[in-house]
Amino acid sequence: MAAQQILIWENDPASSVLVMADKPSISTIPFKYTFPPPRLDPNQHPDTREFRYWNAAAALRRGADFWGPKVDRSEWLRGPALGVSLDLGPGWNANYDRRALNFYHGVTSTGNIYAAASPDMLCHELGHAMLDAIQPHLWITTSLEVEAFHESFGDISAILCSLQIPSMRDSILVSTGGNLYCNSRLSRVAEQFGTALHIHFPDDADPDCLRNAVKFFCYRDPNTLPSSAPTTQDSHSFSRIFTNAIFEALAGMLSLYPAPTSAQLLLVTEEMRDIVVEAVKSAGIVTNYYAEVAAKIVQKSAVKNPAYPAIFRAAFVRRNILSLESASTIMSLLNGTIGADADEGIDQTYVPKLAPLDSSHYGLDEPLFVQMPLDPVTTIARSATPDGRSMEPPSPEAAATAFVDQLFIKGLVNYGEFGDRDHKGDKDNKDPALAHTTHRIQREGDQLRLVRIRINCGSRHVC
Ligand SMILES: [Zn+2]
Repeated sequence: MAAQQILIWENDPASSVLVMADKPSISTIPFKYTFPPPRLDPNQHPDTREFRYWNAAAALRRGADFWGPKVDRSEWLRGPALGVSLDLGPGWNANYDRRALNFYHGVTSTGNIYAAASPDMLCHELGHAMLDAIQPHLWITTSLEVEAFHESFGDISAILCSLQIPSMRDSILVSTGGNLYCNSRLSRVAEQFGTALHIHFPDDADPDCLRNAVKFFCYRDPNTLPSSAPTTQDSHSFSRIFTNAIFEALAGMLSLYPAPTSAQLLLVTEEMRDIVVEAVKSAGIVTNYYAEVAAKIVQKSAVKNPAYPAIFRAAFVRRNILSLESASTIMSLLNGTIGADADEGIDQTYVPKLAPLDSSHYGLDEPLFVQMPLDPVTTIARSATPDGRSMEPPSPEAAATAFVDQLFIKGLVNYGEFGDRDHKGDKDNKDPALAHTTHRIQREGDQLRLVRIRINCGSRHVC
């Protein structure tokens, strides 16, 4: 029997392009979803709750089918089912908290802008959940580069998942002439949501989207960046550097075909998925995580196509994510002109360890234990300074301190039972600001620990 058909957005509500799709199964394992009741009937009118329900179900199923085969555990981090809350109320926000993907709606003078109406927003959040299932240690590691990579993975997920729809591939091939590295509705992530957010918070989104993957950014040591600037110590802002490099590489992979077809574009998305996931699985969670993952991506790409390493190398070097010197060593390793023992790498059984931070400036009277990134002393990957030289990576303590300081400065820490008049904690649990915190202080054994409670994709907006 043929599957029932439903109407969904092809890409973003802003483009107003609707397409037919098979009605998805929400409760299929692996990667099952649980939507809160009631279960709604499909509706063809995009401004209805029923349409958003099934449009979201289709996007999330599409995303799970795309990433799922690469997840070794074959289920979400917490088990076979992941909750989905499509509208938890007002807020320019969406988050992932290991139990569920949670979406809110922005309020404008012309109506609500639902985060869950956007397939890009849905597949960005799904990307967090998938990456968490692939490499769970990223969740708690106190490092801006690690958190920013999580955000970049979300945007890469949005872009690659949108290309799983045949008509979207056809449309992008026509509108770009096969050169993906240009401003298009593929590069513009979450157009409707970002455009509306920009009107209310101009610093937090582009005028026509949330983030544009074709915008060029160069790597800088995140610990030296200001807390407000075009590229800042904010993980969403910093994520754009890596997404921009991956987007250029995606275009480079496709450019190997003189007149790319839809099937070739689909293949390239699958190859990019495989390369990035294999890189994540093999990368040490070190203080210079961007350089480490980039190096692994260059190495893993050779398995797919011998022409790919040069494409990735160029994209990462151009943005200072990899220094010329370390990129040259990586290519020599690949070409066999130097021995594999030049790269000792990180023992994959060695995961980030808990270590204490001085916490008196956080208003605490005992050390705060955090999961620090590893010291990359035995790895070859290095990012570049602005003049192109290899950058000395920060120590685990320095990287963790810089990241944790920013959490406290931005009010993203719930003090739990250690809250007082000056610091919000459990006794303030009705305070809406706490719903947007990303970390919590709690006692485990004889240690005071900083644990992550969610990844917030709009953490500055408390509505
Ligand atoms: Zn995010």
